[in-house]
Amino acid sequence: MVLKIILIEVDLKFGFLEHLPCFEVICLNFAVNKAEVMFENKGESRTSLSEYGEFGLIDHLTENFKITQETTIKGIGDDAAVLDFKGEKVVVTTDMLVEGVHFDLSYMPLKHLGYKAVMVNLSDVYAMNAIPHQITVSFAVSNRFPVEALEELYAGIELAAALYKVDVVGGDTSSSTSGLIISVTALGSANGEEIVYRDGAGVNDLLVVTGDLGAAYMGLQVLEREKEVFKVNPQSQPDLDPYTYLIERQLKPEARKDIPPLFRALGVQPTSMIDISDGLSSETIHICKRSKKGVYLYEEKIPLDPAVISVCEEFQLDSTTIALSGGEDYELLFTIAQTDYEKIKGNPNFTVIGHIAEESEGMHLITRANQKIPLIARGWNAMREND
Ligand SMILES: [Mg+2]
Repeated sequence: MVLKIILIEVDLKFGFLEHLPCFEVICLNFAVNKAEVMFENKGESRTSLSEYGEFGLIDHLTENFKITQETTIKGIGDDAAVLDFKGEKVVVTTDMLVEGVHFDLSYMPLKHLGYKAVMVNLSDVYAMNAIPHQITVSFAVSNRFPVEALEELYAGIELAAALYKVDVVGGDTSSSTSGLIISVTALGSANGEEIVYRDGAGVNDLLVVTGDLGAAYMGLQVLEREKEVFKVNPQSQPDLDPYTYLIERQLKPEARKDIPPLFRALGVQPTSMIDISDGLSSETIHICKRSKKGVYLYEEKIPLDPAVISVCEEFQLDSTTIALSGGEDYELLFTIAQTDYEKIKGNPNFTVIGHIAEESEGMHLITRANQKIPLIARGWNAMREND
């Protein structure tokens, strides 16, 4: 039993993720049998994983990957990759995505999943004010996934690597008794003075965020609602057009690769930085705790897309709560000295949302009604548990 829903999807050949307005509208299937959902082209023959050995599978999946980074000396094909960062400091980060915990294959196409798994890691490299150069990709998979499913996953990884200019230099594969697990490690570099940590925020520094917040979480709410509608009425044909931006932010996030070069161009050196994976409140608290500081965060300053405001009304959710706790926005949250304010003033990428205070003053949200309330970490996982 399969429900057709209209969803944004695009042609790989046309660099679809780069040009947001150029979406083609196609049908994606919600399905009871998850194996049906993973593919763009249904009904083609499927190849069992057992037809390839472990190494044959990796060779097959990575045969088109090319080395483009001058820091990569040796990529896939030996016991280890060899990298030369030419005197720069190296940053390393790893994130794992687990089926049923971080993603649901009933509405997450595998190509998007591969893309997102890379984005989650690159976002952490940018959050160090560094530039990523290489990734490794490891996965565990059960035999309910045919080879073609992993080809879809790798198509998303390949696209992300091409657009974000990173080499895939290694990885591992294993069998899994149930679902799919994918783990990506990213390596990047920056010179020692450019690297930004979480612990450098100073009193009176401005708290600044890129982009807008809450859309990825509301995209997830829309997808979860349509999945429930489908369970009750498999014939329903939801119109997802009004939710395009939100669903994109959930299924096809983009890491802020533009921000570290923008800092260099503007002559801005943030005093602390973190990426927003769990939600604005918990990331703000991370910066404050690491820096041993307090904060005043202003509700009225939190950047929200109009689509988030209207869909929050539809779901009867408070948009501030969603921005504070929704997560998966992959925007960057950072602090700058007040003397750097003129350099970012009026820049559409940045919104000043608060300022840092002495640790003894505590961490506060100033509401639109000018009430001072404690800032509480209530991230994405906590919200899901309470749903
Ligand atoms: Mg992070």
